[in-house]
Amino acid sequence: MPNGIRAELNGNSGIVILGIFAADMAFAAKRLPHIAETLLGSDFKLGPGGKGSNQAIAAAKAGGKVTFISRVGKDPFGEIALSAYAAAGVNASVLQMEGVSTGAAFIFVNEDNGENAIIVAPGAAGLIGIEDVEANRAHIEKAAIFMTQLEQPLEAAIHGLRIARSAGVTTVFNPAPAQTIPDEIYALCDFVVPNEVEVAHIVGHAVETDDQARAAGDILLQKGAGCAIITLGARGALYHTARQSEFIPALSAGKVVDTTGAGDAFLGGFAAALSEERAPAEAVRFGCATAAIAVTRPGTAPAMPLRTEIDELLS
Ligand code: ADP
Repeated sequence: MPNGIRAELNGNSGIVILGIFAADMAFAAKRLPHIAETLLGSDFKLGPGGKGSNQAIAAAKAGGKVTFISRVGKDPFGEIALSAYAAAGVNASVLQMEGVSTGAAFIFVNEDNGENAIIVAPGAAGLIGIEDVEANRAHIEKAAIFMTQLEQPLEAAIHGLRIARSAGVTTVFNPAPAQTIPDEIYALCDFVVPNEVEVAHIVGHAVETDDQARAAGDILLQKGAGCAIITLGARGALYHTARQSEFIPALSAGKVVDTTGAGDAFLGGFAAALSEERAPAEAVRFGCATAAIAVTRPGTAPAMPLRTEIDELLS
């Protein structure tokens, strides 16, 4: 069913995710330093990050059978990644490279208002290419779901989506971070899942109101996506197909302490629910519940909730 939503998966239940790991190094300070200035900060935290990696951990903790395709360096940050996958039950198809650093992110957090500014150096994960996808062709072809983003080189994402699409595997594409991408990619996607900033970049207009979100969803469908899901922060998500358009509200699981990685939690939960053959709108609700719990905890991957916690919130 080209470009359509598969009502049923292909009988498989695995989720294969292609993406990057980056060690998140979060520095809190009053402001960014000027060039040639050294500034004393007030806090530092190190944790596992990278959109694909966060999504893999979220999906596995939410009950999915997850294989994660990536690259890291043979260094302490790479070890952090591999132990996070072992702890979460993610099958790590992760190449450990000699002589190249594991991806890392410098995160400046404004200690007064929580605003952040980020530099990501993908390191080993920046070398992910078509060969990594080919090496995992068998995993992808027998998966239920293939999911990827845009932190690793674009050609690897496109190649993975193509293999998945040819094998009848449901494809989920998170066009993040925002960047200019060829339109051919959308026709390979059953689900395109951007946030408000990413979708605004794609459609060329602001996405702040419900009407603007629906109009943006229409453009994603015209470009060839089977379904557009636009995440809207604390407002929830728009589930938008040619036949159905529904705003699914965010849930509350307590005091919100850190919304970093909310989108990754959403995508992990969404993919896990979809892999159990739940209807897509139902899977969006499950994604909202996963993210609602994640935002009540600090950090990204360590904040991802267990299946039991998600079920409890939804009960
Ligand atoms: P991103 O993290 O990519 O910017 P969003 O901010 O759109 O993504 O958040 C993704 C999802 O996380 C939303 O669709 C919503 O379900 C959930 N979410 C985000 N912020 C909150 C919040 N403050 N309270 C509850 N759920 C939230």
